[in-house]
Amino acid sequence: MAGLTGPRAPWRVHAALPRSAANGPGTRYVIWSQGCALGCSGCFNPETHSADGTSRRTTAGEMAADVLAGAAHLEGVTLTGGEPLEQPAAIAAFCAEVKARSGLGVIVLTGFTRREIESDPARAAAVADADLVIAGRYSERLRVARGLRGSSNKEYWMRTDRYGPDDLAAVPELEITITGGTLTITGMGAPGRELG
Ligand code: SF4
Repeated sequence: MAGLTGPRAPWRVHAALPRSAANGPGTRYVIWSQGCALGCSGCFNPETHSADGTSRRTTAGEMAADVLAGAAHLEGVTLTGGEPLEQPAAIAAFCAEVKARSGLGVIVLTGFTRREIESDPARAAAVADADLVIAGRYSERLRVARGLRGSSNKEYWMRTDRYGPDDLAAVPELEITITGGTLTITGMGAPGRELG
């Protein structure tokens, strides 16, 4: 399967939340990628680090179809992790499909810096359709956990004018949902929340 691109690109997904109000402006579909080798000290979500950890093995096309089925009720999609850009072919194909078939906004949270992304063709392609990339390693020392940034060193890379600072400042810090008997706590202020 390795090497496939486009909708058939394989994607290891740690978790998905079809509706969230605490992972970006408006109601969003959130996808946590599985696998991260960046090793930020104090990362709150170590269970996402192993590339072979418990995860859903799917494809970019399957995830895009799931998102698009509920697009009428969404403002956008947030991709986080784990490290989304360690699976750049899947992210590129997913974002391209979502953008081609809907008006949804796309936000990518990554531990890579903007320079690391721009200097790598695969990573650069992965964020080509993103409206906003929040880039850089999580720093425990600079923790803020607000406005979708785990720490104050992380850069807002506005790739379009869809989202501005006021939109991000208004994102709730915490969200608790109960679906089918499962309790989910998410948002930047949540215990166990990935801060990359
Ligand atoms: S904070 Fe994000 S980028 Fe850093 S180790 Fe954790 S998952 Fe990886």
